[in-house]
Amino acid sequence: MSQTLQAIRGMNDILPDDAPLWERFEDTVRSWLRSYGYRNIRMPIVEPTPLFRRAIGEATDIVEKEMYSFVDELNGEHLTLRPEGTASCVRAVVQHNLLYAGPQRLWYAGPMFRHERPQKGRYRQFHQIGVEALGLPGPDIDAEHLLMCARLWDDLGLSGIRLHLNSLGSPEERQRHRAALVAYLESHRETLDEDSRRRLATNPLRVLDSKNPAMQAMIEGAPRLLDQLGEASLAHFEAVQAVLKDAGIPYRVDPRLVRGLDYYNLTVSEWVTDRLGAQGTVCGGGRYDGLVELIGGKPAPACGFAMGVERLIALMREGGAADSGEPLDVYLVHQGATADRFAFTVAERLRGHGLSVLQHAGGGSFKSQMKRADASRASVAVIVGDDEAAAGEASIKALREERPQARVALAALPQAVSELLYGGRSD
Ligand code: ATP
Ligand code: MG
Repeated sequence: MSQTLQAIRGMNDILPDDAPLWERFEDTVRSWLRSYGYRNIRMPIVEPTPLFRRAIGEATDIVEKEMYSFVDELNGEHLTLRPEGTASCVRAVVQHNLLYAGPQRLWYAGPMFRHERPQKGRYRQFHQIGVEALGLPGPDIDAEHLLMCARLWDDLGLSGIRLHLNSLGSPEERQRHRAALVAYLESHRETLDEDSRRRLATNPLRVLDSKNPAMQAMIEGAPRLLDQLGEASLAHFEAVQAVLKDAGIPYRVDPRLVRGLDYYNLTVSEWVTDRLGAQGTVCGGGRYDGLVELIGGKPAPACGFAMGVERLIALMREGGAADSGEPLDVYLVHQGATADRFAFTVAERLRGHGLSVLQHAGGGSFKSQMKRADASRASVAVIVGDDEAAAGEASIKALREERPQARVALAALPQAVSELLYGGRSD
């Protein structure tokens, strides 16, 4: 016997019973993005490996140990399943010179791949909605993104998602902070885990991002980048906070928030909930003014964020959201050689009038077909036997209420079904 084939660990099927909630999420997200004037961009799922190494940074969890990288055996190219969308999005913007036409407000959606230890809220294939604004330097965009998120949580019916903010300043300010940080970390060498010891040399700021519980107290006492910020960085940060205050969006400045990717500067943010256990960050982002140039474009400022779809949908479920999907209008029952052919004409006629029709397939008696109709999500059964087919007619039976069965000509059928579905409206 052959072994049952299974999906790859950490990569999930989204089954038809779950799909309606995903679709509701996606519909909400699409109209939310439209309402802020963002346009969709779709990038390939596979990119050249050097794109991510360069954009995300060598000394990051993603590049060090989470990427699905492989060599294309046909031509020897080094490829990677995208672990995030910003690098690809910026690559596409640069490659197609989109900034020539002016600033770009863009969004994308789709699967991302990271070789992490699978657990609740952490998967190897997961989905993100990403939003990027390119070519705009001001704190107004940072603020716009935070207001957008707050509105989306509201649109999705989610509450209790808290905003954490920090500023990573300019590269020069980071450099200044780095010296003090390294000295501090060296004096606590015995507390550092293996990853952090390595990063002490390559990317000490990243040590502050560690989730290792044994290091938390030591990290708490580390010198703060926030204290090294110059006037311009502080002004930028304060302008963002002023908009949040005007909008009444509560937030907390968290000087330890550094984010897991290298490309950020100035504002960084995370939205966090307590209701999902350890995987409580549903959205993260910030400004990444150096990335466009790093990827080979003319320098241009940029700012964006990405949210984890699985985590947000889990939160919707946790709040009681359920969705069994759109109901079906008609289950079409048919039996007999003439009726089986006429059924196609009937179904297409109904669909042509905007009704949804599930046409029975696989034969069987009227009785067994009616059982299927009852068990379906349809409100009405349309029934065609050879008799009806010969006369160019069909019978209608309400499935969810007591009503006499009626028989009507094909031309009158859509109207008759609509009346049954939407009440005695005569129009
Ligand atoms: P975490 O700290 O949870 O690993 P991250 O900082 O690596 O998150 P980002 O790269 O900022 O995450 O991605 C943005 C969002 O994507 C996260 O806030 C989270 O909601 C979601 N996300 C990231 N990694 C995963 C994953 N492996 N499975 C499910 N969702 C994820
Ligand atoms: Mg991560």
